[in-house]
Amino acid sequence: MTTTAARKLTPNSVRTELFIGGAWQPAAQTFDVVDPSDGGLLAQVSAADADDVDRAVTAARRALNGTWGSMSGADRGVLLNRLADLIERDGDFLARLEALDIGKPIGQPTVLDIPNAIATFRHFAGWADKIQGAAIPTAGHMGRPTHSYTVREPIGVIAAIIPWNTPLMIAGWKLAPALAAGNTLVVKPAEDAPLSVLHLVKLIDEAGFPPGVVNIVPGLGKVAGAALVRHRDVDKVSFTGSPEVGRDIQQAAAESFKRVTLELGGKSPQIVLPDADVDAAVQGIAMGLFFNQGEVCAAGTRILVHRSVYDRVVAALGDATRAQVPGEPFDPATTIGPLVNRRQQERVLAYIERGKAEGARLVAGGGRVDRAGFFVEPTVFADVTNDSTIAREEIFGPVGAVIPFDDVDEAIRIANDTEYGLAATIWTRDVTLAHTLAHKVQAGAVWVNGWAALNPALPWGGVKSSGIGRELGWSGILANTEEKTVTVVL
Ligand code: ADP
Repeated sequence: MTTTAARKLTPNSVRTELFIGGAWQPAAQTFDVVDPSDGGLLAQVSAADADDVDRAVTAARRALNGTWGSMSGADRGVLLNRLADLIERDGDFLARLEALDIGKPIGQPTVLDIPNAIATFRHFAGWADKIQGAAIPTAGHMGRPTHSYTVREPIGVIAAIIPWNTPLMIAGWKLAPALAAGNTLVVKPAEDAPLSVLHLVKLIDEAGFPPGVVNIVPGLGKVAGAALVRHRDVDKVSFTGSPEVGRDIQQAAAESFKRVTLELGGKSPQIVLPDADVDAAVQGIAMGLFFNQGEVCAAGTRILVHRSVYDRVVAALGDATRAQVPGEPFDPATTIGPLVNRRQQERVLAYIERGKAEGARLVAGGGRVDRAGFFVEPTVFADVTNDSTIAREEIFGPVGAVIPFDDVDEAIRIANDTEYGLAATIWTRDVTLAHTLAHKVQAGAVWVNGWAALNPALPWGGVKSSGIGRELGWSGILANTEEKTVTVVL
């Protein structure tokens, strides 16, 4: 760890090994975790290979068949609540880990990632003893009456593959419903940002979950991740990440008919209607573009603005963009940190050059920030056409594309003219228009007059290339259980 990094952390408090069957153990290899703020070495973490993954899956299977498998929902709920308390206890530390590992300004995990993770574990602690089936009236069988009902059972061993942008929060979205429903897990955190998830697993152990219920195999996607999604004793893969890897996972899962939940990002529209509160809209749009450096699957990157307010919105968004303060994640003045790694920085800069080359009007930003670390200037283009590259491809960085429209039908047509469909935001004071557009836009989640109003009670997931399935809320329980029908011939 670099000196600055060590200063920010409680020394020696993050485990960096594999956790399998209730024991921390080193792997034969390690991989480097890089500090995005200065490019220095942050940590060396055990890199699981296929054999390690196999041992983790075996441990998870054994736990499923052991005490965990016969534990009551109420007792699982007690453990989940205890875990939520421990996350709360270590909240500041976890927020600092996220800031350090991803480069996000410290205030962001403090207000979003950590409280959301706590709320998610508490929400699903509440479901754990309420997973009910149904009694279904049937007409009888061969002249005899019948009594039929359904039960919901755990799916089995679940592989949770975590992205690097909001690791703790998304680990919560995958682990909390899976554990509430009685599954066991093998978790593969992202190689770019594994630290908070490693600490979460330490807390899971401290909370008293039986050995093997949650195992962690940090490592490379192409090695540990690939071995996990191909393992024949894994019953489900829950993945959040890029569409390319998502496609690969679904193909691999098909071999043994594993269940999959895939959340694959988006190119989400923010629609500004003529009657919108422009100041509030611009504030929300800037947040939807620059929060977490724009490394957000639900980032509102296509800003569709009615021509009557177009110039006003573009000017105000330019000001809001120039007002962003790129800087060190622990500096309270910072509003936008570095991107997670050099590859991501170069990828985003290449998209910016593409935007310029394709003739979009650069309103603000447009290059790298002149300092160490993987910084990119917050950037906004106007007069973008929806068929240009920066309007079609997910950039995963602080880059917005403003597109004008003349009427509501055109807005919906542009909003839906994308391969993605994760989220959409509508800015209007007209309640009828708000609901009408909310129904017409193709997206898993629609927000009116606010961006990213997330809550663990609300189903989360996308349509089209944004993914398959839903996480969170009761839908999260459905996605982590199999339904069984029982019929007794009386
Ligand atoms: P990004 O391209 O932004 O890094 P990815 O989709 O590659 O996003 O990564 C998301 C998660 O998927 C990470 O934990 C990564 O290690 C994992 N991963 C990457 N490639 C594979 C793969 N072939 N099989 C399984 N998991 C993978």
